[in-house]
Amino acid sequence: MSSQMNEQLESIYSKVVKRNPGETEFHQAVKEVLSTLEVVLKKKPHYIEQKIIERMCEPERQLIFRVPWIDDKGEIHVNRGFRVQFSSVIGPYKGGLRFHPSVYLGIIKFLSFEQIFKNALTGLHIGGGKGGSDFDPKGKSDNEIMRFCQSFMIELYRHIGADVDVPAGDIGVGGREIGYLFGQYKRLTGRFEPGVLTGKGLSYGGSLARKEATGYGLVYFTDIMLKTKKESFEGKKVIVSGSGNVATYAMEKVTQLGGKVIACSDSNGVILDENGINLDTVKRLKEVERKRLKEYVNAHSNAKYLENGCIWDISCDVALPCATQNELNADNAKILLKNGCKCVAEGAIMPATPEAIETFQSAGILYAPGKATNAGGVATSALEMQQNSCRDKWEFEYTDSKLKNIMTNIHQTCYETAEEYGVAGDYLKGANIAGFVKVADTMIPLGLV
Ligand code: NDP
Repeated sequence: MSSQMNEQLESIYSKVVKRNPGETEFHQAVKEVLSTLEVVLKKKPHYIEQKIIERMCEPERQLIFRVPWIDDKGEIHVNRGFRVQFSSVIGPYKGGLRFHPSVYLGIIKFLSFEQIFKNALTGLHIGGGKGGSDFDPKGKSDNEIMRFCQSFMIELYRHIGADVDVPAGDIGVGGREIGYLFGQYKRLTGRFEPGVLTGKGLSYGGSLARKEATGYGLVYFTDIMLKTKKESFEGKKVIVSGSGNVATYAMEKVTQLGGKVIACSDSNGVILDENGINLDTVKRLKEVERKRLKEYVNAHSNAKYLENGCIWDISCDVALPCATQNELNADNAKILLKNGCKCVAEGAIMPATPEAIETFQSAGILYAPGKATNAGGVATSALEMQQNSCRDKWEFEYTDSKLKNIMTNIHQTCYETAEEYGVAGDYLKGANIAGFVKVADTMIPLGLV
């Protein structure tokens, strides 16, 4: 990110760091947004008087709660639950729940902050929130997962609602967990209120295409971005980090558009399959059997498993980081460039470090931030809420076409905003500025919120 913060922005940022000690991911996310706002403040100095940025950097509400649960052996465990309700300016808080041992307040706050701008970019009425727990779902039985989800909901239920706050999935939270959470919400409240959670199963209010939406949306956006350079996915070699929900459906759409995905990963290693990653195998391992990715080679003897390998060392045309934050650093970025990578688009939230982004942008390759590119998931969650409100059920093709439209609009917004602010081709600034301005301009008419 080439632009620096001016004195005013620097002072706001220092206060954020001081007020939120130790929350490094949150600091990083705030800095990334603030570093792109100098041009905005020049055009709209009233944001300073109105203390818009200070207000936007302070969550409306932060909840931290105890989650006790009992494992299959009868032993008691205590985890910590979080929900950060950051901004409800343009709609009810909306954002996923993450279950991962690395979760602490700083992670949830960074995710929630990012969500404000992402949700604004979708053009839909959804505010920013995020939650989760330091619970590790790996190696837990179905019953343990269920008991944990039930205990988590015993506290969360009083803070959420279809018009208040609508959680969904994220790392470690998929259809199974949403089902247990929804079941417990229903028992606690005595209400069948499908609009309270998204990513639900199809039989109790879920939406077709929600499971695919983040990955598909990422690839729709990337395809449009490639087209601005008269390129496409056809014949491109693609690598996708992760092998969870976002990665799987990104790989599926890339393949449908004529690209060849040759590598994907999990936190233990990398699968390299020059014949093209077989998605039936990935889905069976990850969605059905809940196994580790290394088992892939048992079904495909030509493929290689690189234990503790680094996916960014593999030569590709397009790289789609779809695992987690800060998974791609400056050294990785340099290797990608050296090996000929021409396009990087983020499926995960903040997967590239600031130095990696700087490396891509200075080299002039296509780079698009997660705020814009992975917004298809939350957008389709909002479409799920629409269906729930009117007790309707849309066809897959209809929902998918709406998703495609939304991604096209987000691309256009980022592209045109970058041009308007004199930074043509900079999708990071385009996304940050467009999201920020939308929220800021809505805050003012609402009074001091
Ligand atoms: P999943 O839990 O389905 O999959 C996560 C994948 O990333 C797994 O392959 C996991 O490997 C890997 N991973 C997670 N943490 C790490 C880590 N610390 N180091 C290396 N690999 C890791 O999550 P999702 O696919 O839903 O989410 C992936 C990313 O996309 C996240 O950043 C999430 O915030 C973002 N996102 C998700 C949306 C959604 O709709 N699901 C919407 C928008 C963004 P392992 O199994 O070994 O842990």
